[in-house]
Amino acid sequence: MLCFFQALHSSGLEAGEAVGPVYVKVLLQFLVGVKIVRFFMNCNRIGEFAFLRPIHYFCGSMKEFEITCPLTREPRLKEIEAKAGGLKWVLKKRSIDARKEPVWRYQYEAYGPGEEPGAYVQAPYRDVHNAPAVLIAGAGPAGMFAALKLLTLGLKPIVLERGKNVHERKFDMARLSRGGVVDPDSNYCYGEGGAGAFSDGKLYTRSSKRGDIREVLSQLVAFGASKDILIDAHPHIGSDKLPSIVENIRKCVTEHGGEYHFGAKVCGIESAADGVTAVCTDGRRFNGRRLILATGHSARDVYEMLSNAGGALEAKGFALGVRVEHPQEKINYHQYHGLWKPGVPAAEYSFVEQVDGRGVFSFCMCPGGILVPSSTEPRTVVLNGMSNSGRSGKFANAGVVVQIEPEDVPGEGPFKLMDFQQSVERRMFDWCEQQRCSGAKDIAQNPMAAPAQRMEDFCLGKLSKKMPPTSYFPGVISAPLHELLPPIVAQRLQKAFPRVRMKGYYTNAALLLGVESRTSSPIRIPRDPETLVYVSAPLIYPCGEGAGYSGGIVSSAIDGIRCAQAAAASI
Ligand SMILES: Cc1cc2nc3c(=O)[nH]c(=O)nc-3n(C[C@H](O)[C@H](O)[C@H](O)COP(=O)(O)OP(=O)(O)OC[C@H]3O[C@@H](n4cnc5c(N)ncnc54)[C@H](O)[C@@H]3O)c2cc1C
Repeated sequence: MLCFFQALHSSGLEAGEAVGPVYVKVLLQFLVGVKIVRFFMNCNRIGEFAFLRPIHYFCGSMKEFEITCPLTREPRLKEIEAKAGGLKWVLKKRSIDARKEPVWRYQYEAYGPGEEPGAYVQAPYRDVHNAPAVLIAGAGPAGMFAALKLLTLGLKPIVLERGKNVHERKFDMARLSRGGVVDPDSNYCYGEGGAGAFSDGKLYTRSSKRGDIREVLSQLVAFGASKDILIDAHPHIGSDKLPSIVENIRKCVTEHGGEYHFGAKVCGIESAADGVTAVCTDGRRFNGRRLILATGHSARDVYEMLSNAGGALEAKGFALGVRVEHPQEKINYHQYHGLWKPGVPAAEYSFVEQVDGRGVFSFCMCPGGILVPSSTEPRTVVLNGMSNSGRSGKFANAGVVVQIEPEDVPGEGPFKLMDFQQSVERRMFDWCEQQRCSGAKDIAQNPMAAPAQRMEDFCLGKLSKKMPPTSYFPGVISAPLHELLPPIVAQRLQKAFPRVRMKGYYTNAALLLGVESRTSSPIRIPRDPETLVYVSAPLIYPCGEGAGYSGGIVSSAIDGIRCAQAAAASI
């Protein structure tokens, strides 16, 4: 109505003029204006133009509405149609509201003829058999989405991956969990799909670029993920579903003329006449016009390779702490106020505390998940969490970590935080190894066994006598984690746990396991903010989490897309 009154105001109504005909005239002008606006808006896909939507809601018949319903069922069609008032509708978002009695909140949009919200349209993948090549080191989320983007831009991706294909990789991970044997090229971090392939597959991101997020999520759906990820407020895929999606991405890339090479560990980069050559440890050499370096945050050898060649690197803050495991039923009980029942999704949690000037926060929470050994080097202990799509396991685990800044750790140079990270991972292993060698009874013999302590015992600084059950297959050894962790971490965690504002969280039923250290990269490979080119070499694009520009599956995939676009624009 505001538009209507503005139109009336600007109609130049003079004092004494007959008001009735003027109102009719202005109303007609207004309606014609509306028609024109709607005509132009319908010429575009209005969903793509967020700035036009308020006008459209006002002038058109579009409206948003919400339905809440119990967690055990979906909204009924009749309810939705009644709220839509005869208009077509689309489900936009689904979330759980657990502030009081937990309910599903479904958010819809209803629209009239010609007002269809714009669906994301994926650019077609082109045939690139004979196109100029771009090398991609690393087949994690950043590398895979860079490869898909290159197909749409008419360039041939050549993906070089140090590990095995996602199927064969599973056997090495089983050997790691059961026998504690770390294959330095095939493990929970390395191999096709990268660190994201055997994870919880959480797809939340703090990135606010909706278009980019849709590009990632829509492609994941096209390659086999459930459509639910497009509407869930906290979408996730699950370890049981991710490998086939990763395989489907590879098939798409190779069918269109791209290449994948496994066991291709890049150990050298040389300039070539028309681009760049990647040299692999087995002597293979690959040429491309550009190189996207998406090797993840665990590839310490890649940072060393760059540094040895005189390339720039920077120490970057990261976070380190423990994995915390609670019985899932405890988390369900507290998050759902005692109202959880079978069929209701396993509850999540997250928290942030400020302790002595540093953030202490939960990270990568896996409801109904398991803990896994994610070392990439022998004689280190590192843990992470994963879960299947159903999240039906008995335990809830999360990293609880302390922010570490370069000034928190003595020393100089870009490697100081990486060295600090590695020293803690080694300390965890060494301590367990000492226990195994001591001949003490009932000590877990798996080299990946983790030092562990109950939560309250940790905060009180005392050893735990008996360990609670855990999902961690290699086993745990009762340990003084409060002493094994660096004081800047242990002391903050000891203060943070009792403060967590979730009833029942601070409990001796919870187990802390050391160490969660691969939260993000402790090193940045600096690049030009506009061109995304490595500051030390013009044809290299540092990309994803290992370069220090993303954290998590979706933001790494988005960074892969950006680097592919930047590389293509420069060719
Ligand atoms: C167990 C686990 C669970 C996780 N759960 C989640 C989750 O639920 N949600 C989430 O958002 N994030 C999760 N993460 C983190 C997420 O997986 C990473 O943020 C993401 O994978 C980073 O993507 P990337 O492509 O930058 O690097 P990576 O995924 O690390 O991929 C790097 C790839 O490069 C390869 N590579 C390394 N060096 C070389 C070399 N020299 N030559 C050739 N190839 C090389 C590696 O083998 C690897 O495949 C999890 C991580 C782990 C380990």
